[in-house]
Amino acid sequence: MTRSVLISGGGIAGPSLAYWLGASGYAVTVVERAPGLRTSGAAPVDFRGDQLALLERMGVLGDIRASQTGMGDQTVIDASGRRLSTFPSALFSGDVEIERGDLARILYDRSAGAAEYAFGNHITGMTQDEDGANVTFAHGAPRRFDLVVGADGLHSAVRRLAFGGESRFRHDLGLAVAGFDVPNTFGLDHGGLIYNEPGRFVMVTSGRDRARAAVCLMFTTSLPDYDWRDIDGQKRIVAEHFADVGWQAPALLAALRDAPELYFDTISQIRLGRWSAGRVVLLGDAAWCTGPGGNGTGHAMLGAYTLAGELALAGGDHEAAYRRYEQLMRPPVTKSQKTAAGAGRFLTPATERRIRNRNRTFRILSSRAMTGLFGWLAKRTANTGSLRDYPLHGSRGPVAVGQPSPR
Ligand SMILES: Cc1cc2nc3c(=O)[nH]c(=O)nc-3n(C[C@H](O)[C@H](O)[C@H](O)COP(=O)(O)OP(=O)(O)OC[C@H]3O[C@@H](n4cnc5c(N)ncnc54)[C@H](O)[C@@H]3O)c2cc1C
Repeated sequence: MTRSVLISGGGIAGPSLAYWLGASGYAVTVVERAPGLRTSGAAPVDFRGDQLALLERMGVLGDIRASQTGMGDQTVIDASGRRLSTFPSALFSGDVEIERGDLARILYDRSAGAAEYAFGNHITGMTQDEDGANVTFAHGAPRRFDLVVGADGLHSAVRRLAFGGESRFRHDLGLAVAGFDVPNTFGLDHGGLIYNEPGRFVMVTSGRDRARAAVCLMFTTSLPDYDWRDIDGQKRIVAEHFADVGWQAPALLAALRDAPELYFDTISQIRLGRWSAGRVVLLGDAAWCTGPGGNGTGHAMLGAYTLAGELALAGGDHEAAYRRYEQLMRPPVTKSQKTAAGAGRFLTPATERRIRNRNRTFRILSSRAMTGLFGWLAKRTANTGSLRDYPLHGSRGPVAVGQPSPR
């Protein structure tokens, strides 16, 4: 009998899982809160080391390479624009880097034939019994599923419904981040500029589309809970924290006022004792959000592959599959969370002296003699060992997900 699965969240983890389960014959429904696929936004995500084998196995490496940013080094500058140091491309851009919007489109395209997507909707309630889970939605009739997966990110609704309020699991790293696009008036060509003042980080990059530049503003803060739907309020918070910052910050803040889209959030980790409860399981940022430099995208996709693979091996025993998936994914994400916890100190040093020390360290690390060590450092949380083999359609040879899975 065909088993049905509801995936909440159509970001990175959700479509990846939809692909693997849909190709394996599950009846997959993905419910995504956003009204459509968000392909805008130049914020880049990257893959490195062992993660490339997974992209190959999923059949998306070629598409990802075709859309890669081709980002080069990032130049650290002072307030007058003078070069102080360089962050090699391996640090921020890994082996292949792609804008998050482009990746989301590729994963959606790869999975759309194998899953039913419902945009502009979200779960409002969920109850479980021995044989299934009853789910209610903001729009449309209630439905029953065999399994429910929360792939709905840092502020997961599935996690809240199945495990409890976010504040119990969210650990803020003392930073907030804002991301938006501006016209590339910086003359950047596959590269970026980084400017720091104590507790503040400004990065402007331009890759594939030389007309646009992605701005990332990061700052140390102990933000109380803010309204994550109040974009004007968020713009005010950013403007307050960067009001006295030099270099091009005033021009960027002026551009922020009119920016049609803003990504804004605290930089946080999710730490949960268990990722499953009965028929419900969490995946990606909803389960283990790692934070900056924590390979969040690669782990979300590896987690999707591992979860689908363990479900295939367990032959219907979802609880055994969930346990094994958690055993396998805990070690790499725990390691990444440890690494990411220190990233704030690195990106936004608290004093001028620490900024100078960091830049000096990078001058040494990025020297030719240290390239090997640098490459190892940059890949160490991505290299999780060789990919496990699972009896998944598509794990060997071509996958026919162009046709809908049997329902
Ligand atoms: C500024 C920034 C830069 C980053 N840079 C990198 C990087 O360079 N490399 C890297 O590997 N990772 C990076 N990451 C992390 C990476 O983006 C995430 O780890 C990754 O996207 C996790 O995928 P996910 O599918 O679990 O969550 P998300 O990508 O957050 O997707 C969750 C989806 O769920 C949807 N959703 C939310 N609530 C609901 C609901 N109630 N119902 C239905 N749908 C819902 C959202 O709209 C979204 O589409 C970065 C993150 C940020 C914020």
